[in-house]
Amino acid sequence: MSTESSLSISFEFFPPRTEVGEEKLRLVRDRLAERSPHFFSVTFGAGGSTREKTFGTVQNVRESGVDTAPHLSCISSERSDLSDLLKRYQDVGIERLVALRGDMPSGSMGVGDFRYASDLIQFIREETGDHFKLSVAAYPECHPQSDTIEKDVSRFVDKVKAGADMAITQYFFNADAYFHFVDRVRAKGCDVPIIPGIMPITNYSKLARFSELCGAEIPRFARRQLEAYGDDTQSLQAFGQEFVTKLSQQLIDGGAPGIHFYTLNQAEPSLAILDGLSLPR
Ligand SMILES: Cc1cc2nc3c(=O)[nH]c(=O)nc-3n(C[C@H](O)[C@H](O)[C@H](O)COP(=O)(O)OP(=O)(O)OC[C@H]3O[C@@H](n4cnc5c(N)ncnc54)[C@H](O)[C@@H]3O)c2cc1C
Repeated sequence: MSTESSLSISFEFFPPRTEVGEEKLRLVRDRLAERSPHFFSVTFGAGGSTREKTFGTVQNVRESGVDTAPHLSCISSERSDLSDLLKRYQDVGIERLVALRGDMPSGSMGVGDFRYASDLIQFIREETGDHFKLSVAAYPECHPQSDTIEKDVSRFVDKVKAGADMAITQYFFNADAYFHFVDRVRAKGCDVPIIPGIMPITNYSKLARFSELCGAEIPRFARRQLEAYGDDTQSLQAFGQEFVTKLSQQLIDGGAPGIHFYTLNQAEPSLAILDGLSLPR
């Protein structure tokens, strides 16, 4: 069944570590491809650590016929390496990228030739012109390293000025944060589509840990409810599905141009949310 909607529906994967994981991802991608998504995307490990795996996973998920966007982060990378990678993607017919800074390196790893995602976008445009449709990251609840929302919004707009075509947000659980962010961006005369990133809830302890790191706030009532389920995974997932479906519907009803699912390489949680939505045709 296709979604047959004018909205941009997309699904994100990470490169599996094992062959079993690759095999499982083939089944997941085929199930999700039945919904005719606008695109798939595949993450890129910090400092290029999954460079080859990302490349391989992109080839894997593209076999489904869905347009696929590799993520590319620039921190701790050299210009020549990124230039080679861009050329390889061009040679195999990739036309979209998600361009990121990546998380700052710890330990002895250097910062490399780029400091911010806007530098990477400028570089991609210099190297490859308009070949790639470029998405960038957006943070409705403010990037954790940003001092103020004002600065974060301005830096987001700088990425668009450098050549980004659209944005995908960090996940969040509060629709007002998204609408506030979009209003601030529009007030600066920037009108690129900003697609909300949606995280299905399947495992509370992992979600809590990751949300702490990336600055996504879990509302108190939802946190308390999720905590209360303890090992009762079924109830936790049922609550999570209802909660995230409601959030997604609010975003669509309020004018969000699509939904980008952080699938964590599983089809069911994202499909359960998608099936619960009434989408404009
Ligand atoms: C949709 C999405 C996909 C992601 N995929 C990946 C992935 O595949 N791999 C991965 O490693 N990470 C990924 N991330 C995480 C991302 O790399 C981190 O959030 C990272 O910390 C910031 O990346 P960015 O591209 O937003 O950086 P930037 O846009 O460069 O912003 C980083 C910080 O620097 C500030 N800043 C920007 N420009 C300037 C300037 N000129 N002067 C001073 N400060 C400035 C910003 O306000 C912000 O606080 C993803 C995030 C999202 C939302």
